[in-house]
Amino acid sequence: MDFKLTEEQLELKKWAHEFAEREIRPVAAEYDESEEFPWPVLKKASEAGLYSIDIYMQAQQDPTGLTLPLIMEEIFWGCAGIGLSIFGTGLPLSALAAVGTQDQLFEWAPRMFGTPEDPKVAAFAVTEPQAGSDVRSLRTRAKREGDEWVLNGQKIYITNGTVADVYVIVATIDPELGHRGQASFVITSDDEGIRPGKKERKLGIRASDTSEVLLENCRIPVDRVLGGVDRVEEKLAKARKGESSGRSSAALRTFEVTRPSVAAQAVGIARAALEFATQYSKERVTFGVPISQHQSIQNHLADMAVEVECSRLLVHKAAWLAASGQPFEKAEGSMSKLKAGETAVRVTEQAVQVLGGYGYIKDFPVEKWYRDSKIYTIFEGTSEIQRMVIARALLA
Ligand SMILES: Cc1cc2nc3c(=O)[nH]c(=O)nc-3n(C[C@H](O)[C@H](O)[C@H](O)COP(=O)(O)OP(=O)(O)OC[C@H]3O[C@@H](n4cnc5c(N)ncnc54)[C@H](O)[C@@H]3O)c2cc1C
Repeated sequence: MDFKLTEEQLELKKWAHEFAEREIRPVAAEYDESEEFPWPVLKKASEAGLYSIDIYMQAQQDPTGLTLPLIMEEIFWGCAGIGLSIFGTGLPLSALAAVGTQDQLFEWAPRMFGTPEDPKVAAFAVTEPQAGSDVRSLRTRAKREGDEWVLNGQKIYITNGTVADVYVIVATIDPELGHRGQASFVITSDDEGIRPGKKERKLGIRASDTSEVLLENCRIPVDRVLGGVDRVEEKLAKARKGESSGRSSAALRTFEVTRPSVAAQAVGIARAALEFATQYSKERVTFGVPISQHQSIQNHLADMAVEVECSRLLVHKAAWLAASGQPFEKAEGSMSKLKAGETAVRVTEQAVQVLGGYGYIKDFPVEKWYRDSKIYTIFEGTSEIQRMVIARALLA
């Protein structure tokens, strides 16, 4: 066992950190305020090669699994809203890679990213008004009509919903089969019958675009179903006979794979708050001494540091398990997401406390990190759902 990062990993981390420090941190407050999608930063990330398919391919070939967690921690240290604008496309890409055929991957992945001159983003749409945690209850329908699928439904809270060029939409072909009657479809913004609905205004990660996506008689060719028509028909036929495909839903499989990376994002926010609070405590004087000399402030900082370290260890272990092809027997992916998400909330809250009134106002970035952190106990599986998955693994 060796916890030391290699020279190559340290270089990667430094590269991502410098980008975050130079291009993200200075504009984070501005995008938080305006809630605009940070296209100029995305363009710079694309030009630098940070926003590219190559990064995901490099991550795929990394036997340690640490490529994405290392990059995520640094970029989200810069700003979680902008970070999600850069890495939100990773989610539909993972869905495409998890259930699509090789041909579909080669056709759609490049379009999701565009080019450095004209970068594009993509969205993964599962959630609906009546189906968030309960992904079995999706009502968006996909009906086969000759050589086409016709989709109708309402998706909500979709990251990149108003700005995506490519959407991966999870819909139900046969509602009686629950999640086994569902499939994923690739739809582009040029297709008729798909349009963004209401753009949400949010507590945190405000640079990230979140909106409704509406499907109204959206017609797409039959080959846009991920995995191909034959495989999907076969899966449905098995489900109708009550035979198990041995696999969980496409949506759940996608979330399982992406959990350690999402958890690494939360570690990035928590670390930003820990570093800021530590530095601030050395400068702020009360009762004639820097507050870092007060035992209770030291306790806050120590607890924050321990939580950040624990979260990172869980993230790296889960990422390594996934990369080395070992199953998450103890739901390690969920453990990392649960721990890191709750750590981000707790640590940013403690950072506000360490700064006192200055933690609560917008002159300092700490209040923003506190707001940004909360989403990590909600999206990609709430904390309650992660606990359920962990308990199920324990009790199996
Ligand atoms: C900013 C943002 C971005 C998002 N991006 C995307 C995206 O790109 N694509 C996408 O598809 N979705 C996205 N979502 C949706 C997100 O994944 C859901 O909001 C989340 O899964 C929770 O679903 P819900 O909001 O319907 O809450 P509900 O499922 O209604 O849950 C409400 C409460 O009940 C608890 N609960 C529910 N069921 C159980 C249970 N069985 N046991 C115990 N507790 C339970 C939950 O933990 C929660 O506390 C995003 C959401 C937000 C806010």
